[in-house]
Amino acid sequence: MNKIILKSGKEKAVLRHHPWIFSGAIATVSGDPENGSSVQVFDSKNNLLGIGAFSPYSQIRVRMWTFGHEDINQEFFEKRIDRAIKRRSYLMEKYNDSAWRLIHAESDQIPGLIVDQYNDVLVIQILSSGSEFNREILIEALRNVTKLHKIYERSDLDVRKMEGLKERTGKISGEIPSEIIINEGGHKFIVDLQNSQKTGFYIDQRINRRIVADYCKNKDVLNVFSFTGGFSIYAVGNNARRVVSLDSSHEALALAERNHILNGFPDQEHEWLEGDAFQVLRKMRDQNQRFDVVILDPPKFAPTVAHVNKAARAYKDINLLGFKLLNPGGILVTFSCSGGIQEGLFQKIVSDAALDAGAYATILQKLYQGPDHPVSLNFPEGAYLKGLICLKN
Ligand code: SAH
Repeated sequence: MNKIILKSGKEKAVLRHHPWIFSGAIATVSGDPENGSSVQVFDSKNNLLGIGAFSPYSQIRVRMWTFGHEDINQEFFEKRIDRAIKRRSYLMEKYNDSAWRLIHAESDQIPGLIVDQYNDVLVIQILSSGSEFNREILIEALRNVTKLHKIYERSDLDVRKMEGLKERTGKISGEIPSEIIINEGGHKFIVDLQNSQKTGFYIDQRINRRIVADYCKNKDVLNVFSFTGGFSIYAVGNNARRVVSLDSSHEALALAERNHILNGFPDQEHEWLEGDAFQVLRKMRDQNQRFDVVILDPPKFAPTVAHVNKAARAYKDINLLGFKLLNPGGILVTFSCSGGIQEGLFQKIVSDAALDAGAYATILQKLYQGPDHPVSLNFPEGAYLKGLICLKN
């Protein structure tokens, strides 16, 4: 196995079991390790720190598999997968849902691998060269541990480019239905596994959808960036008076509408608006439209810290409009799923937005990604979704 030797002092993060080693921390690389192959990592005094996957194209040059001396083989991955699933067993017992994130990459000690389960179908995303290198044994390990054979790949994310990998999507094994109906929170949702955004559904909002639904009873609700209607269906399910769902994706709204029918809700409680949120919210403000609850769950405006300034302006803009569209006593539920925008900055942006909207607001509750998207104590970067429930009064 090829070897990596770190610069003096650069072993500290590794000793704290942080899984990433940046290129600047590396003194020497022995041999010419293949993209994604395993390398032994040593500190400057030649002590073995563990084994990781080498990624010559990425600034994250090594992603650690282990801080011990294990062999990186199928059995190793079976143990990791088994542990990740057990990590979720209390959740699966608590909620009678049928869609789960089983593996959340670094946070589940399998850097670069995402696995979502929709009923008996697994959808995988491989995001790092290390997981790509071990793709065959990872898939075999998944089959062995889960006993599930319907596996579909959605490795169609931009981040693969940074790892020197091409996009890949398609069936891996089993009969893959084009659509599947999952259960979440007592509601049914159609998931388009092959063409939809992400792996098909925003499972990370599971707990938040339940929490937000409580605020929607007898209220007029505007769900902006609604996708297939996650928050909307919960709101109607909890007897919201009126729900308006807004999204720029025609396909997502078509599914939202079908989800509405599938759950047996009467039509008159729901309106669907296709358009650009920035424009539509401005128009609503100019028309003096008002709502009791406004939900803002935009896409990732800042995938990395490089996009932070531009993203901050976009977040401020929609939050300002969100506050403007609220009745006094109204609730703004606002999210950011950008890894590049940290919680403190997000709160500051929302506070600037309230100030500019001339609104006084207090935080009723802070929200995070659901616990099947865990955040490892060793890897704070795994925390990406943050939300605020604000009361305007
Ligand atoms: N809240 C959703 C997930 C939102 S994902 C849920 O719980 O399932 C973000 C959504 O924003 C996507 O559906 C995407 O189509 C939509 N979107 C992206 N840019 C947009 C824009 N400028 N205006 C309106 N919708 C947009």
